Amino acid sequence: MRAALLHEPNSPLEIKDIDIPEISSDEVLVQVKACGICHGDVYLVKGERKPSKWPIVPGHEASGIIVEKGDNVTDFGIGDRVVLYPLLTCNRCSYCLQGRENLCINARSIGKDVDGAFAEYIKIPQNNVFKLGNSISFEEGGILTDALATPFHAINRANIKMGDTVVIFGLGGLGMSALQILNLLNVEIIAVEISERKLEIAEEFGISEGINPRKVDVVRKIKELTGKGADVAIELVGSPVTMEQAIQSVKLGGRVVIVGYTTKSFSLEPYYLMGKEIEIIGSRWSLRSDLIKLIELAEKGMIDPGRIITHKFHLEDINEGIRILEEQIGDPIRVVLTML
Ligand SMILES: [Zn+2]
Ligand SMILES: [Zn+2]
Repeated sequence: MRAALLHEPNSPLEIKDIDIPEISSDEVLVQVKACGICHGDVYLVKGERKPSKWPIVPGHEASGIIVEKGDNVTDFGIGDRVVLYPLLTCNRCSYCLQGRENLCINARSIGKDVDGAFAEYIKIPQNNVFKLGNSISFEEGGILTDALATPFHAINRANIKMGDTVVIFGLGGLGMSALQILNLLNVEIIAVEISERKLEIAEEFGISEGINPRKVDVVRKIKELTGKGADVAIELVGSPVTMEQAIQSVKLGGRVVIVGYTTKSFSLEPYYLMGKEIEIIGSRWSLRSDLIKLIELAEKGMIDPGRIITHKFHLEDINEGIRILEEQIGDPIRVVLTML
């Protein structure tokens, strides 16, 4: 099968023929139909995320068709259209047993710890696949698994109430998806983003105000718009500056959810915690139940994941897709790899 292999950091992926993976009795073999390209893949290529093995086939936002199944697989048949939950979890540690499998102490993620979906086929345990209704395309299904599931989980972690003002920092694939999900709640949305084009698109997603940090003081503007500060801020950029702005822009007792990834530190005046009772909440990946809910929402037409797909590439052009995302050429929101 054709697959894209990353041999070392800061090198292009190599497209080559490798063996189709062999499945065990609890696994299925999925013919990949689509796979989103995520900033997580860019971090992997740049060496900021370390894979567990070299070479690695990246790709963790996938959908496809089951073409082979192990003897113990009873709930799925050959030909089923499915999406892939990206974390391989042990299902027996205390976190898995509490329904917090995103924190599984034995978790491995596809495309980082095991070979992922920038390939024609991927093997995956049966409890990582979920059926996709015919009304949802493979491209849309693929991005449900991370671009939508990750902000969905973060929004659940934020404990948002009716009428809240929510600030979204960063309008990439996750940020634009967050807007669609927030539109299902009765909230007012403010978006912070440096691309004017993305702020324009966000207006179609129902934001009440867009703030460009290159033009105005973000914290002052949010205080001006809200009076007391926002109820909730969700940081999806992964930069110490936006993390600090998120914390400074919420009201007394407000909540900040950090989803963006960086290895750099941000600074925090302890008064924000002990004096203002601001809660800083982390959010990592998503739960299987989040993905199930999102599939339902997409099938009912309550969200339209396809609206965030701006670029499509074939496997042979994967390096170009990664470059477009990394260098933000043409304001990409979600770049998706599609298979012929
Ligand atoms: Zn991702
Ligand atoms: Zn576990």
